[in-house]
Amino acid sequence: MLKYLVVIGVIAFVYFVFIKKKPLKSTKKQDDDTKANEMVECYKCHIYCELDEAILSNGHYYCCESCLKG
Ligand SMILES: [Zn+2]
Repeated sequence: MLKYLVVIGVIAFVYFVFIKKKPLKSTKKQDDDTKANEMVECYKCHIYCELDEAILSNGHYYCCESCLKG
């Protein structure tokens, strides 16, 4: 009986990890696809970076923290 519980537990765990991981990945990919076109110019160095990765501060986008500080 205990053996069955362990097997079921392992299967449930693998299943849970699989199910939990898969939609997360596809959702992120979809997110990346939809946001791929959204590029913003860094206020400091004028490099274009994805909106996802840009830092918004005082109404301006920055590509990284060093641009934000400098
Ligand atoms: Zn920059």
